[in-house]
Amino acid sequence: MLSLTDALALYVGAIFFFILALRYMNDVRTARWGGRSAALGMAIGIAATLLAYEIQQIDLLLGALLVGFVVGTPIALRVPTTALPQRTAVSQAFGSLAVALVGAAEYYDYAPNVNRFTMSVLSAEMILGFLTFAGSCIAFAKLQELIPGRPFVYPGKNFVSILFLAAAGVMGAVLVAEPSYSSVLPVMAVLALIFGFLLVMGIGGADMPTVIAILNSYTGMSAAALGFVLNNKLLIVAGSLDGSSGFVLAVIMSQAMNRSFTNVLFGGVGQKIVKGPGAEQKAEARPVKSFTVDDVATVLDNAKTVVIVPGYGMAVAQAQHTVKEVSDILQERGIDVKFGIHPVAGRMPGHMNVLLAEANVPYDQLWEMDKINPLFPETDVAIVVGANDVTNPAARTNPSSPLYGMPIMNVDKAKTVIFVKRSMNPGFSGAENELFYLPNTWMVFGDAKKVLSDLVAALKKT
Ligand code: NAP
Repeated sequence: MLSLTDALALYVGAIFFFILALRYMNDVRTARWGGRSAALGMAIGIAATLLAYEIQQIDLLLGALLVGFVVGTPIALRVPTTALPQRTAVSQAFGSLAVALVGAAEYYDYAPNVNRFTMSVLSAEMILGFLTFAGSCIAFAKLQELIPGRPFVYPGKNFVSILFLAAAGVMGAVLVAEPSYSSVLPVMAVLALIFGFLLVMGIGGADMPTVIAILNSYTGMSAAALGFVLNNKLLIVAGSLDGSSGFVLAVIMSQAMNRSFTNVLFGGVGQKIVKGPGAEQKAEARPVKSFTVDDVATVLDNAKTVVIVPGYGMAVAQAQHTVKEVSDILQERGIDVKFGIHPVAGRMPGHMNVLLAEANVPYDQLWEMDKINPLFPETDVAIVVGANDVTNPAARTNPSSPLYGMPIMNVDKAKTVIFVKRSMNPGFSGAENELFYLPNTWMVFGDAKKVLSDLVAALKKT
């Protein structure tokens, strides 16, 4: 057995590793150490708790650990990187449900002898926990395409949602005023669940990663609140770190998309296609030029500098390994090849970094948007692989575009732009991309993996 003072010292050690993990995760080179550091902190925290407190039913605890291990290990090993957002949604759903249920158990253990401060903290954390659970389940279902991803919108949607949240808040206040009304707790839980359900149903599938970051910060806040009730300092600090980092991540994502939080949560983006300024002209009046793979190989033969800009389509096609093959062949020919990474390319933060790291693209070949943008005017060929919104010049020029104001990759400034995608369809924002029609742009239609495999074959021939 450990004394509580020793356990506290170990908690400080665990907190140190949690903070170190956040620091490491700031950079792709050290991100793996971030995961290890967080796991070590968690192991220390669990061990200190088990050794310092009298565990009444160790069999239940070991059973839960075993179930967690058996279910979690294959998930961690088998889930593809493209499915990481929904995997995060599932673990978050379980985390928030656990926090809400521990809060409920705490209430039923002590009711009606719960003081007002404790009851207000418990009510707030249970509301946050239950709404996050429902919201995370819907986020998972949308990302996994179990339900349609488009936002479920109806007149007065936001008003109805807020009404449920307010009603849950009133139930919480009733419990604070009269903790003996134990039947109010399930009503409060159901109202919070309905609010979480309605909130996330009203958001488009592609906004789910931002929603997950916001819900993640709610889980952290409810865990920190529970830490006050249980008088557990580790839970307070870990919950606060989780809450604030989730919040900061959501802010960064919203800023990179040039959207406000309210627009993400209540805007219902993703329902309609927004045309560019010349779109009212007939299709034949706005011709696009297309290249065959052999044409691309010839253009690349004469290039000295190439920038590859990957996007969501590369993830869908799982073309990261083929992209790397193209890059290797070009580099062997003395061509300077860089990858330009937009902060919100794909559907989750770091999506492109994860995929390219999986394909062993060296980190020093990855260039962030601010660093690569000044280089485009001197770039011979920009190859856009399944990216769309993050290259759309309407973000700079068309105030009526939903992308207006979003920082983009300035690929249109390159001497030649090769655009690999399957059709003329827009990307996530629904905005038509003016880049398709520029004189220096050549479309190569097809699945990214197929087009790039053919390009590898064509390059090997030349
Ligand atoms: P995008 O604008 O969604 O465009 C992706 C393009 O990939 C589509 O136009 C699609 O065109 C093409 N594509 C799909 N499957 C393909 C395949 N198999 N082969 C070739 N092309 C394929 O993607 P993005 O440029 O990466 O921009 C990301 C968008 O998501 C931004 O609007 C961003 O704000 C939003 N978002 C990002 C995050 C994040 O954290 N990264 C979070 C939420 C929202 P075709 O159908 O014609 O092939």
